Amino acid sequence: MSCIFCDIVDGKSGAEIIYEDENVLSFLDIRPVNYGHTLVIPKNHYENFISVPTKEMDAVIKATQNISDAVSKSLKTDGFNIVANNGTAAGQSVFHFHFHIIPRYNTDKFNFRPELKNYGSVSMKEFADKIRNAVIK
Ligand code: 5GP
Ligand code: ZN
Repeated sequence: MSCIFCDIVDGKSGAEIIYEDENVLSFLDIRPVNYGHTLVIPKNHYENFISVPTKEMDAVIKATQNISDAVSKSLKTDGFNIVANNGTAAGQSVFHFHFHIIPRYNTDKFNFRPELKNYGSVSMKEFADKIRNAVIK
């Protein structure tokens, strides 16, 4: 199975590497929302947020926190978004799990806010019950 992010991990494809450790690789997104848009991935191939083992996810989250701080300070951002798209419906295009760190500025002419629904015609409790019953304890 071919995966562009695995190719970057293996050095078969180039990238502007920001950070690397035993479990994690971070590099600039080739098509940035804003300049400095950075991706953080587990080195091992896992498809999505749910499938990354806890130990590796801990390392990815720790690195994402560290790199977000570096992005914010070095680029003097006004804020940043941490985004993880999971599944085609959610906009995922590379099926090797990654966090996006997107630098944000007060002058940005875009936002990520869709039109919001209201609970009303459907029961909020019904949705809560479905999810609660599926949570593994
Ligand atoms: P997704 O759409 O899966 O949430 O995010 C995948 C991201 O990977 C996109 O923002 C896309 O620009 C980036 N990307 C795709 N191919 C490459 C590549 O070859 N190199 C780098 N650096 N980024 C890539
Ligand atoms: Zn991969």
